[in-house]
Amino acid sequence: MTTSSLPPHDVPSASLTGNAIRQTFIDYFVENGHTFVPSSSLVPGGDGTLLFTNSGMVQFKDVFLGIDKRPYTRAANSQKSMRVAGKHNDLDDVGRDDTHHTLFEMLGNWSFGDYYKKEAIEWAWHLLTEVWGLDKTKLWATVFKDQYGVIPSDEEAKELWRAQPGFVPDQVLYFGRKDNFWEMAETGPCGPCSEIHYDRGPAFCNQQDVPGHVCGVNGDCPRYLEIWNLVFIQYNRMDETTFKPLPAKHVDTGMGFERIVSILQGKSSNYRTDLLWPLILKTAEIVTERTGVPQGDPEIDASFTPYRVIADHARAASFLIADGVIPGNLGRNYIARMIIRRAYRFGGKIGLTEPFMARVAAVVIENYGKAYPELAKNRQTILDAITREEEQFQRTLDRGTANLQSLLDKLEASGQTTLPGEQAADLYTTYGMPLEITKDIARERGLDVDETGFRTSMDEHRLASGKGTAMGVMGGDDTEIYAKLLHELQEEGKLGPDGVKYNPYHAPTATDLTLPTTILALVRDGQPVQAVYPGDQVEVVLPETLFYLESGGQVDDTGIIKSYPTPAPSPSKATERGDSTLPLQVGGDGGDWEIKVTGIHRPAAGILTHTGEVVRGYPQVGDAALAQVDAQRRADIIRNHTATHLLHTGLRKFLGAHARQAGSLVAPDRLRFDFTHPEAVTSQQIEQIEQFVNEKILGNFNLHTEIKPLQQALDEGATALFGEKYGEVVRNITIADFSNELCGGTHCPNTGFIGSFLITSEGSAAAGIRRIEAITGREAFNYIQSRRHLLAQTARTLETAPDKLPEKAEGVIEHLGAANKQIAALREALALAQIGGVLDQTEDVKGVKVLTATLENVTGDTLRSVADKFRERHPEGAVAVFATVNDGRPVIIAAVTKDLNGRGIKAGDLAGFVAKQLGGGGGGSPTLAQAGGKDASKLEEALGGVKGWVEGK
Ligand SMILES: [Zn+2]
Ligand SMILES: [Zn+2]
Repeated sequence: MTTSSLPPHDVPSASLTGNAIRQTFIDYFVENGHTFVPSSSLVPGGDGTLLFTNSGMVQFKDVFLGIDKRPYTRAANSQKSMRVAGKHNDLDDVGRDDTHHTLFEMLGNWSFGDYYKKEAIEWAWHLLTEVWGLDKTKLWATVFKDQYGVIPSDEEAKELWRAQPGFVPDQVLYFGRKDNFWEMAETGPCGPCSEIHYDRGPAFCNQQDVPGHVCGVNGDCPRYLEIWNLVFIQYNRMDETTFKPLPAKHVDTGMGFERIVSILQGKSSNYRTDLLWPLILKTAEIVTERTGVPQGDPEIDASFTPYRVIADHARAASFLIADGVIPGNLGRNYIARMIIRRAYRFGGKIGLTEPFMARVAAVVIENYGKAYPELAKNRQTILDAITREEEQFQRTLDRGTANLQSLLDKLEASGQTTLPGEQAADLYTTYGMPLEITKDIARERGLDVDETGFRTSMDEHRLASGKGTAMGVMGGDDTEIYAKLLHELQEEGKLGPDGVKYNPYHAPTATDLTLPTTILALVRDGQPVQAVYPGDQVEVVLPETLFYLESGGQVDDTGIIKSYPTPAPSPSKATERGDSTLPLQVGGDGGDWEIKVTGIHRPAAGILTHTGEVVRGYPQVGDAALAQVDAQRRADIIRNHTATHLLHTGLRKFLGAHARQAGSLVAPDRLRFDFTHPEAVTSQQIEQIEQFVNEKILGNFNLHTEIKPLQQALDEGATALFGEKYGEVVRNITIADFSNELCGGTHCPNTGFIGSFLITSEGSAAAGIRRIEAITGREAFNYIQSRRHLLAQTARTLETAPDKLPEKAEGVIEHLGAANKQIAALREALALAQIGGVLDQTEDVKGVKVLTATLENVTGDTLRSVADKFRERHPEGAVAVFATVNDGRPVIIAAVTKDLNGRGIKAGDLAGFVAKQLGGGGGGSPTLAQAGGKDASKLEEALGGVKGWVEGK
């Protein structure tokens, strides 16, 4: 069914553009005392469990949990969100209907312990009906009524709706927990919701033929569209049946932006709004251009799947790349790759077989660049990355598809319907065919793909190639046990309201990185346990940690947690750390034990776990413990981190202010820094930058750390990093007057601590992005030492001193060149000597002397000399073809004495005749011609034909 044939319903604000609708929403709430909070990145900051920001809630989650505080209590935002993997995955529906998208925008207004139901409902009603002019009789509201009778009905919301001017009293309905109750997890903040639905009219019902069908809110047909969900967070859920009122009540609302635009613009489909329609028109324009078949506006049916997929995916890819997610093989980068490839394949269905999507993305940037400046700012990076990805996929798509089709043929022939996951994984590793495309193609034939098997195979493949779990970041929704654990530890008073105290900064000298502490919880195989055993893989929860959690490119700390027989540390020390509320307790007597810590994770907000293996003894919950960060490794890491800041300054100084950080890795053995720059950095620039950084190291400048409001830091000129999420309060690292960055990492006390800095490589990371790798401290010293050994060894081999090596090497090369020339001359002389006898072995063909011969291992020049020799020996009535094979390719020379030219025997023709049989060609004068071919195996046969050719003349 093509919904585009439906009549438009009434058009209250048809003159409003999508951009204007977004802006009226924000302005309306700002006028009502809200602070406009810009959309956070699609890459959630600090939440490792989430692949992408998937709702407006993500950036405020910690505020509701009481872990984060903001300087405002009312907020309004328009949040870019993505639902493309894991629990919330709409991908299969995208392009097949009018409402699903991978990327969408969510409008919301928020109250953090400020206003509540009355204001939320009044403002919602006023905005929809008075500001936007929606017909009051077409709006319906739903409120909560518990089908189990445990939680009180939301009579308050119901009465508030009925009190709104013009609200039809019968148009408020009750719904139960599934539709109208919101919870973050099994326990914790929760509350009733109230939804607003819009009646688009009977024409939108697609179930009219179904007997007994009655259109209704939350019904089976698309006539009523849910447009806005108001969530009233008023309870703290303790268990199955206990709901305690929250001291501070919150409001969280969410309105699907594309939906409200479709209603206000009177469109039957999201794709027909001015948000997406220009993308479809652009695609049609490209199709017309490339196929020559006109695709003018009226002829396109926007319900046509490829157009919708391309529009949706081009938009999502542009936003992803703007947030620093470039196409790649793992996690988020894989998603960017997958959606570009998927759209590219759909392009093939409408005749687009060359890269095209950058032109569609350019329209996205134009359309959205004002509301989301990161798009406009990264325009070229977006366009380049998309085209590059298309070009890469273009090379393998046809072969991959052909291969898949034949696998599906075999599958069908064997009577099965599910393609084994292993084969799908092979298609990805060999042809770069993402699972989602394999699924699309299988589905077009009514077949299925084993996704679990695919993931297992991919993981095996990754593990085999040492790259870690490939799809690990997808899904991962087991945060609930950690949220529960946190909640329990807080109830028992073992953790404060902020959860585990994160304190990796307390030892700026990097020497004191030990902390006496207590084991609060142990998790094994995803379940809390009381004790663990040698060899167990465990997660350890402590009240406080000094281990750095991977962030901003700096890797996790490693170290040990071991039994700590000494009783509690002196009170002064405990007070100093500010944890006097958490007395250390000597609990279960686990004896002597040790856990080797390999990393640290934040599985849910407020909780940090140390992951590792029990190497000795039997650790138990309650045991006193000593947590020790590997101090030497940490020192190596901070050298690289501080050096990264110096490098950043150096790049901007010598390459220009456009050289902006686009990614970094700070590991113990090296640092890697990606930055925007259109061309290779010259070796002269590398030297300048290297020298600059080393001068700053020798200057031994102190580092200063300050915590301050974000805006103040930015006003003072701090560099904010690409794709990072910053809270309202930031950590500012400055070095003298030349470096000022927002950074959560750990650093050297002064630049001298770095020791020295060496750039080891410079190359391309992606289109428009360069990558520098460098080393510092111990690694730099080792590098210099090993290079010195190498030089000494090479000098010994060449029997000279290291500083005489260049001269010596030049001498050796010169000598080698002369020797090679001599060898060539000798070879030729040898060939000529050998050929002496052969030259007389001509055969007589109708009075013409004919000779063919193959010479081994000679150059074309030698062949030429041989041909000259032949003509000297036989000045009249003679024809010869000499051949050799160079690098597997045949080369021939034909020689014909001048007197025969008159009889129609010409060297050029003869060479052409032979070369043609060898799959090649060539030419020359009537007396001497050279030619080459491809197929050496046909040489003998081709030479055999020469006599016949001469005879024919
Ligand atoms: Zn209906
Ligand atoms: Zn940093």
